[in-house]
Amino acid sequence: MSDKRKAALKKRRIFLSLCAVVLVLAIAVLTLSVSAIVKAFKKSNDTQSKPKSSSQTERTESVKEKLPEMVKRGEYTLNADYSRLILVNAENPLPSDYNYGWNLTKIDEKYHNGQLDRIDAGIWPYMRAMVEAAWQDGVDLKVWSPYRSYETQKMLFENRVRKENGDEAKAATAVARPGTSEHNTGLCADFNMASSQFEGTEMFRWLCDNAEDYGFILRYPKDRIDITGVMYESWHWRFVGINTAKEINKLNLTLEEYIKLKGLEPQAGLYDNATP
Ligand SMILES: [Zn+2]
Repeated sequence: MSDKRKAALKKRRIFLSLCAVVLVLAIAVLTLSVSAIVKAFKKSNDTQSKPKSSSQTERTESVKEKLPEMVKRGEYTLNADYSRLILVNAENPLPSDYNYGWNLTKIDEKYHNGQLDRIDAGIWPYMRAMVEAAWQDGVDLKVWSPYRSYETQKMLFENRVRKENGDEAKAATAVARPGTSEHNTGLCADFNMASSQFEGTEMFRWLCDNAEDYGFILRYPKDRIDITGVMYESWHWRFVGINTAKEINKLNLTLEEYIKLKGLEPQAGLYDNATP
C-alpha cells in the first residue's frame, strides 16, 4: 500500500469516528430534550386538570354555603338570607316572662311621623334602606308605629274596648291584646297612618311593588282574615327577610301558613339575631 493511500485511509477513519461522536451527542441531546418537554407538559397538565380530592371539594362547597347572599340596595348592602320568623298572634302570645324591649334601637326623627321611635336593631337597616328607596322614587314613606311596649299595647287595647262598648272580642280583631301583637317584638311597623285610607296612597302602592326587596310582607291581607285572625291592614308591614319575603309572596301565603308549611316552631330563636 502506498503512503498516499495509507494517509487517505487514516483521514477517512478519523472522519468516520468524528461523525459517530457527533451522532451519539446529537442523539443524547435529542433524548434529553424530548424527556424534558414531556416532563414539563405532564406537570402543567397535572396542575391544570388534576381533580381536587373529595375533602377539598367539600370544604370549598361548605364555605360557599355559609357565605350569605349580599344584595345592594341604594347605599346599603343587605344580607338576603337574614330572616326573622317569630310568630306572635292570639294563639301564640309572647311568653309571660318575655323581656320587652331587649332588642331595640332608636329611629332617627327624619324617618318617622309618629310618637313611637324604637324598632328591632337587626331589622332597622332593612327598613331604613326601604324608606330611603321610597324617597328616591319621590314617595314620602314614613314610619308611623314600630315597636310598642306591653303598656302601650294595653292602653291601645283598652281604648278600643271602650270604643266597642266593652266588647273585648270585637276589640281584639282591630287591636291585638298586649303580648299578642307583633308590635311588641319590634319586627314590624305601621306606615304613615293606621287607617284604611292608606290603601289608596302611593306609599301603599310602592310597598306592594318593592317591600319584598327589603324583606317586608303585607302581614294581614284582605283575603286571609280567617287565617291571621286580624282585619285587613294595608299599613302594617312585617320583616321576615328578603329571600323569605319573596318566597312567601311567590307561594301566596301568610306568615302563619309559611311557618306551618316549613314545620317551624312559631317562636324559635325568639332572642336570636338582634344586632345591637
Ligand atoms: Zn300594626
